[in-house]
Amino acid sequence: MKTISKLFLYIMCLSTTLLTACAQQSDNSKIVTITKDSTKMNDEQNLSEEELKKKLTPEQFHVCREKGTERAFTGKYYDSKEKGTYKCVVCGNPLFSSDTKFDSGTGWPSFYAPMDTSKVAEHKDKSYGMIRTEVTCSKCGSHLGHVFEDGPQPTGMRYCINSTSLELEKK
Ligand SMILES: [Zn+2]
Repeated sequence: MKTISKLFLYIMCLSTTLLTACAQQSDNSKIVTITKDSTKMNDEQNLSEEELKKKLTPEQFHVCREKGTERAFTGKYYDSKEKGTYKCVVCGNPLFSSDTKFDSGTGWPSFYAPMDTSKVAEHKDKSYGMIRTEVTCSKCGSHLGHVFEDGPQPTGMRYCINSTSLELEKK
């Protein structure tokens, strides 16, 4: 009789542990859904990578979220002279003005300055055996391109950006 009650206790403990583990798991999956708050409809920085994968085209996902690079002279904006604001394709953050766009001859849209230095973030990038400065959207962290110090005046900077990461809002 004693053995049976001990066994019963043991099973009770075990099932409590299992139940707690299950409860924790469902809590975790809830967090992902809660981030899609209706008050933040246009704020894509809270979308999970899985949700972004559904929202973006495969090329946009590769460039913006996996730090890919579009082939030179293939993007839709490298040659564009249209006036407007280039926004982050993922979150809509206004990044560059057509006023600072120049023809760099590289095959990628190039700007000598961002709309505001707070709109972009810069990071040291040592990939591919080079030391470069990566530029990302300060709001959602999406990869945009790189910045080099061989641009025209007044800044001398060249923000070399993938068309794929941008969406032009025409003036
Ligand atoms: Zn963004």
